[in-house]
Amino acid sequence: MHPKRRPLIAGNWKMNKGGVTGIQLAHQIVELKKETPHVDLLIAPPFTVLSAVAHEIEHHGILLAAQNMHGKPSGAFTGEVSADMLKEAGCTWVILGHSERRHVFGETDAEIAIKVTHGLGSALNTCLCVGETLAEREAGRTLEVVRRQFDAVIDALAADPSEEAIAYEPVWAIGTGKNASPQDAEDVHSAIRAWLAEKSPALAQRTHILYGGSANPSNAESLLGMPNVDGLLIGGASLDIDSFGAIARIAERLARPAS
Ligand code: PEP
Repeated sequence: MHPKRRPLIAGNWKMNKGGVTGIQLAHQIVELKKETPHVDLLIAPPFTVLSAVAHEIEHHGILLAAQNMHGKPSGAFTGEVSADMLKEAGCTWVILGHSERRHVFGETDAEIAIKVTHGLGSALNTCLCVGETLAEREAGRTLEVVRRQFDAVIDALAADPSEEAIAYEPVWAIGTGKNASPQDAEDVHSAIRAWLAEKSPALAQRTHILYGGSANPSNAESLLGMPNVDGLLIGGASLDIDSFGAIARIAERLARPAS
């Protein structure tokens, strides 16, 4: 891990913890943050509980993300939520292009690029998710697919000076219990870092490249030990404070300066 990139441990709650249980989990994460000062913690609750969670975590240095947003600022888009609405709810980040958005809801690279551009233009930090399906991996197409997803947004990322994240999340590893090996993750992460550097060395330096896909307390240390793995995007294991806390404490131990 590069000394200038603080580890980012992110929890994607998906369609879980949208009410009082979300506020309770946020409260537990406030306590966790006190033990993990060298780690950035980011949580992405459902829309319904964003404002209440924002209130719960206020002034505790925890980052709040939405899991998705619309690519237009306002209008007749029933059921959708805009970047400004997310900011009003207290978000500073938004996750875009998650594999469930791509594969369950059919979002295309072009639509995701519009969202990334709009999110950055609205002063939200974006966490863009990329990753190949099992069939694409088995066909040896991992880097080609990730590059295509990356190329769709790179100009928008390069034009924005803020700190962003790209999460490499192989689709076959999400929610399946099968994680990429640390070396598999590193191979893709180092390719992404090199593509970022082709565009701008400063962009490569400041972008957090996260791994996501069945990350848990047993595999977190080996994944976080890879030079280009700057953090983890965690689904299932982020819903329980014991597992999310264990992962955050591993990141803290690895990041804490030697005394
Ligand atoms: C995710 O949804 O971003 C994710 C990585 O899920 P899980 O950790 O459950 O595989």
